Amino acid sequence: MAQYDYDLFVIGAGSGGVRAARLSAMSGAKVAIAEEHRVGGTCVIRGCVPKKFMVYASEFSHHLKTAKGYGWTIENATFDWEAFLAEKDKEIARLSGIYVRNLQNAGVELAHGKARLIDAHTVEIDKIGTRTAEKILIATGGRPWMPTDLPGFELAISSNEAFHLPALPKRIVIAGGGYIAVEFAGIFNGLGVHTTLVHRGPNLLRGFDDDVRSHLAEELEKRGITVMLGTQHTGIEKTPGGLKSTFNDGHDVESDVVMFAVGREPYVEGLGLAAAGVNLTKTGAVAVDAFSRTNIENIWAVGDVTDRINLTPVAIREGQAFAQTVFYDTPTSFDHEMVASAVFSQPPIGSVGLAEADARKQYGKVDIYLSRLKPMKYAFGGSDERSLLKLVVDSATEKVVGCHVVGPDAPEMIQMAAIAMKMGVTKTQWDSTCAVHPTLAEELVTMREKHEPMGLGQVA
Ligand code: NDP
Repeated sequence: MAQYDYDLFVIGAGSGGVRAARLSAMSGAKVAIAEEHRVGGTCVIRGCVPKKFMVYASEFSHHLKTAKGYGWTIENATFDWEAFLAEKDKEIARLSGIYVRNLQNAGVELAHGKARLIDAHTVEIDKIGTRTAEKILIATGGRPWMPTDLPGFELAISSNEAFHLPALPKRIVIAGGGYIAVEFAGIFNGLGVHTTLVHRGPNLLRGFDDDVRSHLAEELEKRGITVMLGTQHTGIEKTPGGLKSTFNDGHDVESDVVMFAVGREPYVEGLGLAAAGVNLTKTGAVAVDAFSRTNIENIWAVGDVTDRINLTPVAIREGQAFAQTVFYDTPTSFDHEMVASAVFSQPPIGSVGLAEADARKQYGKVDIYLSRLKPMKYAFGGSDERSLLKLVVDSATEKVVGCHVVGPDAPEMIQMAAIAMKMGVTKTQWDSTCAVHPTLAEELVTMREKHEPMGLGQVA
């Protein structure tokens, strides 16, 4: 008789957990996966996927304005929030169903309920009971962090609720300057909601290239978003007209909805990690080595719960590397270098490699190639939106170490740039690539003049 009920028990059926469970089961292992909500995790249920649908929905207002410049007459265009939500929810249910079927087809047992560790080999699942497993994988992801010491914070929503608002608000205040804040600011603004984005820092998107950050803030304002930088909530209170946000600079803004997008935290609460002896990092994430193994020999963790790079494709690759290492006898550690990412702001951002400031710290001397231009599409229609394309090159080796684009289709472009950069492309090789004309992307391979930032060089 087997010593354990399962070879592998996975906690959390999001992107990383599902990939790891399926691949492991396909090796012949007996695998179960527990999920307390719907199968698919943050990305499919309340993250990337529904967010992208909301971005698509909201972009039409901008397209309609541009269309007028191209000769179209579109009268009485209106948006139906409820109809959109119904379509979105139908698609999310379909995708979640595919995840369930894929697990079943791979022979993975699905346990619906919150699971917690009793010890290093025993898991207790709500309403199901205890099960034992030789190996355990924690893939519970993250969840929105809320400023619980802020007076009135309970009146605000997080991104979780933004996907299901009963009605589209007329006015929204969004706090935060990260991915989620700028993406939802674009969504609500595009849907006609008066949008105020409030961020404590001097600029949005900390960690991104400084030119990208300031360019985006300008473009968001051009699209009609009020961007308040260096500003932080001091409280939220109910008023007859809605909700009043008060700020540290003495200002206040009334809105119908206040949304906090001020970071996410690893979801470890109630997981019983202490009972199993699993160590956490200083930031409360599950501590793992390069092979995603915790300090407990038979317990691994992948995805946002480990707080390495909190992106869906990274969680998937970490889950895949886990399965290869543990069930296919092929030790594999996912390389977290040169991971491209996109911010689906409006205009969107694609970025891979180092920001200029980080590259200067790492390499000393770097060459910068930068172009700001009006996308051809906006030749008609009156939009004064500008795109930004920037390359950061290590002067000594000529390697392209950073590529940053703000503009239409930037997320699509950056995937291709990431391939070349992962292979160690030099600027000469990059430039030997013939342009695709007429595109915005061609600018990337035609930038020859080094850019000297104001204050550092000759160009005023
Ligand atoms: P981020 O960590 O990206 O940003 C958090 C923001 O909240 C920062 O601007 C931060 O400011 C601010 N903040 C933190 N604490 C406070 C506070 N107490 N008061 C006011 N502001 C505060 O978090 P997100 O929630 O936006 O996203 C979480 C992660 O999810 C991202 O890092 C990303 O990895 C992933 N994600 C990826 C997406 C994509 O790939 N397109 C989309 C959405 C999420 P400061 O900079 O000053 O610290």
